[in-house]
Amino acid sequence: MEFTPVVSEVNSPYGGRLVERVRKHVPEELRKVEIPKRYALDAEKIAVGAFSPLEGFMGSGEVESVLERGTLESGLPWTIPIILPLWRGLEVEVGEEILLTHGSEGFAVMTVEETFRLDRRRFAERVYGTLDPAHPGVRQTMEMSEFAVSGSIELVKRITGDRTPREVREEISKFGWKTVAGYQTRNPPHRAHEYVIRTAMELVDGVLIHPVVGELKTDDFPPEVIVESYKVFIDEFLPKRKVLFDTLNIAMRYAGPKAAVFLAIIRKNFGCTHFVVGRDMAGVGSYYDPYGAQKALKELDLGIEVIALGEAFYCRRCDGVVSERNCDHDGDLRVKISMTQVRRMLSQGVEPPREMIRPEVLTILKRSFERSDSSLKSSK
Ligand SMILES: [Zn+2]
Repeated sequence: MEFTPVVSEVNSPYGGRLVERVRKHVPEELRKVEIPKRYALDAEKIAVGAFSPLEGFMGSGEVESVLERGTLESGLPWTIPIILPLWRGLEVEVGEEILLTHGSEGFAVMTVEETFRLDRRRFAERVYGTLDPAHPGVRQTMEMSEFAVSGSIELVKRITGDRTPREVREEISKFGWKTVAGYQTRNPPHRAHEYVIRTAMELVDGVLIHPVVGELKTDDFPPEVIVESYKVFIDEFLPKRKVLFDTLNIAMRYAGPKAAVFLAIIRKNFGCTHFVVGRDMAGVGSYYDPYGAQKALKELDLGIEVIALGEAFYCRRCDGVVSERNCDHDGDLRVKISMTQVRRMLSQGVEPPREMIRPEVLTILKRSFERSDSSLKSSK
């Protein structure tokens, strides 16, 4: 382990120090353990410090503390346990070093600290606030192994093209920004997203547009479509001197306010001073209070300022995209803007209006829809 000080201190990492754990030499005799994608992504993010101050997958005490009190054992607020399930039949010994692989390639060394049993029902109920199997997080939790293994992680090789917190911090300092807002999304940009991004630009020096693309619901758009549509949107419509764009490959946790807290902590680690929170962040279905995320973040004071915005829509009377906080016109004058609606229209062969989504972005979405449509047909 080498210690190198953080170059940019726009905002200090969560817990005070950016975790950076890298291993250059890996003994050949290390046993290889293949892990599924969502956990491999977490391992990489732990090692590069996106989850600072975590240095590894959580043990039973830490998991219990997060579930029971909403904090790490150190007392620092933390809402989503970061765990590595251990499949039955896979034996590991405490103290042993194993080489984690994903797609047969060794990418991280884990030093096993503890194996323990997980109460999956309790986990699901505490994290997602429901046991409804229709909730994607609950379903995923109940399908996990009931055993988990904890231990520190050192990265041998990156498995994603994401910039690390250090690299993003370096970019921020090159721009010379004093304030940066993290913008969380898991969708291609529509006009309400645009309203939110532009509003943030009024308040801070720069915006980090940082879509989560690692593992999404099957009805979310695929990562390459999100990236391509953002590139076009930024290129054609936003001031380059105020935007940093990068992907965040992690599994999306659809845990509403708890996920929002987790996502805000990550952006603090990437150097953001502010975090933009619109309506129903990281929600799914109608499980969560649409403004619960804003409330939770304001109460916790994580060391990242919250830019809390109302729901944006197109108003026919105002003739523009506005929000419930600056337009009082009747509901029937409002055109609701949501990606669910855009998708529904596309699947029905209806063209979503430009008040909802820019034609430049729509072209990309349509192409993606045609591709998935023809692959469905050809697979029959
Ligand atoms: Zn209006």
